[in-house]
Amino acid sequence: MQHDGHVLVVEDEPALRIDLVDYLLARGFRVDQAATCRDSLALLERSKPDLILLDLALPDGNGLAVAAAARQRYDLAVGIIMLTAFGDEAHRLAGRGVGADIYLVKDTSLREIEACCRNLLRRLQPSPSANATSPPTAWHLDDMLWQLLTPDGSVVPLTATEVAFLKPLMAAPHIAQKRADLSPGGEPRNLDAVVLRLRRKIEAVSSHPPPFKAVYGSGYVFTGAPPQS
Ligand code: CA
Repeated sequence: MQHDGHVLVVEDEPALRIDLVDYLLARGFRVDQAATCRDSLALLERSKPDLILLDLALPDGNGLAVAAAARQRYDLAVGIIMLTAFGDEAHRLAGRGVGADIYLVKDTSLREIEACCRNLLRRLQPSPSANATSPPTAWHLDDMLWQLLTPDGSVVPLTATEVAFLKPLMAAPHIAQKRADLSPGGEPRNLDAVVLRLRRKIEAVSSHPPPFKAVYGSGYVFTGAPPQS
């Protein structure tokens, strides 16, 4: 059956467990539930959930044991959201040891919990760029032909000024570059106009947003997938 994701809810408090299970079922998830470590481990043996909503204080032990077992069996393919009592720093620290992805305090609303589940599921989906046979997903600058190749395979013809802007930016992804270093002849006054025009050119041919953004008080930063060598 089609569902939005397979969630294992581990919670020994019946009212909270039922709320979580009912809500997630109503929102389109497949849901398994357990109230003890033992039942959780048995469920993990039988099938791999996409993520586990995990209470820590369970009647027969600590939920961390469930997290550790899930990591051992399925590695990072299982998302782990730990439900902790408010301000429970010790549990958070312990959870970090087994690689929990998200920590939520117990009075988090069901809607927020659902949003966290969806975000985490998106993050866990294997990205297309991990697949070597897929088409290129990174931005590529051809500074000989003055072209920018977009991840969806479009070609954006560039001016010399645009090449001068993109080259240092793309050489150091995610590191802000000073305006003066991105402007030919060090004339930052015109840079914003150059960038605006380049944005429009990219938006006209590609469904990917332009891979750079302004950094307040500094300059610009390349935000796309790093160019593949
Ligand atoms: Ca509990």
